[in-house]
Amino acid sequence: MSRVYNFSAGPAVLPEDVLKEAAAEMLDYRGTGMSVMEMSHRSKAYDTIIKEAESDLRDLLHIPDNYKVLFLQGGASQQFAMVPMNLMKNKVADYILTGQWAKKAYQEGSIYGKANAIASSADKTFSYIPDCSDLPVSEDADYVYICENNTIYGTKYWTLPDTKGKLLVADQSSCFLSEPVDVTKYGLIFAGAQKNVGPAGTVIVIVREDLVTEDVLPGTPTMLRYKTHADAESLYNTPPTYGIYMCGKVFKWLKARGGLAAMKEYNEKKAEILYDFLDASQLFKGTVVKKDRSLMNVPFVTGDEELDALFVKESKAAGFENLKGHRTVGGMRASIYNAMPAEGVEKLVEFMADFEKKHRK
Ligand SMILES: *Cc1c(COP(=O)(O)O)cnc(C)c1O
Repeated sequence: MSRVYNFSAGPAVLPEDVLKEAAAEMLDYRGTGMSVMEMSHRSKAYDTIIKEAESDLRDLLHIPDNYKVLFLQGGASQQFAMVPMNLMKNKVADYILTGQWAKKAYQEGSIYGKANAIASSADKTFSYIPDCSDLPVSEDADYVYICENNTIYGTKYWTLPDTKGKLLVADQSSCFLSEPVDVTKYGLIFAGAQKNVGPAGTVIVIVREDLVTEDVLPGTPTMLRYKTHADAESLYNTPPTYGIYMCGKVFKWLKARGGLAAMKEYNEKKAEILYDFLDASQLFKGTVVKKDRSLMNVPFVTGDEELDALFVKESKAAGFENLKGHRTVGGMRASIYNAMPAEGVEKLVEFMADFEKKHRK
């Protein structure tokens, strides 16, 4: 068996220990004689799995009691619709455009009401986070929406926007559980699991209890109401059972490693190895304004498209997978989520240094 260093933006690398544990439990989950995949979501064994997943997540993020935790399906993209359907009571919402995912959410929001783009970094290919200290927040806005870590462009909000008292909604898909978060600052947080916490197919929503009401936009399907899932503790219908089980294992792995503060420290150390190299390099260059750099997604270029393509090809041959940048930006991108070991980043930097020696003009 040989595993590569997988720098994919998502679905992405998972902790090897978690995968091994899942493999060991594959055929007979703790004496049940079946795999979790084959198990009723109403069974006692599964009830323990989903309850433990929720309670471990609550521990990790210190989620207050007045917030619901929901395990849903439909990916992060479905939340682009569920958020306005459930929260757009005045039919007005403000969006900050920091990349493709924020833009998609904004476009979806505009189907249901008046979506305002109140700030944007489109003018410089989303390479920075706009100044959010004095935003023109709409008086009747139901919420202000951000994509907190921009997976494609490699930017991250290091200070949350001043929403002037309005509800903050955040897509945390690609930074979820990478650092401690003060949940009370948000009305709603959502995250697709496949970036930092588990397999694709599960999306996690953390929503303040008072926002979970029957008062949704007319025509909102039962399955797209937060209340449906909150009332049934994520078991209204068959949830993504195996995905939740895997997320639960990742939560336990995070707890065993010291929780989110320890994870943040580790992630900072990893990112620093790569950013320090990029800052000193004569060939490679990071594409993001320094103060807005993500710890999770690191885009970089050589400035020469052919050389970029050669780098992607040669790095792949050397066991570094998925370093090609997103099709809309080109260049390279290394996603270094929680489960990427520091060793993977060190080896990548060694490889980049060798490549630089050969190709520097
Ligand atoms: C990947 C990603 C999405 C889309 O996720 P899906 O689960 O494919 O819908 C949305 N937002 C962010 C920040 C992402 O990284």
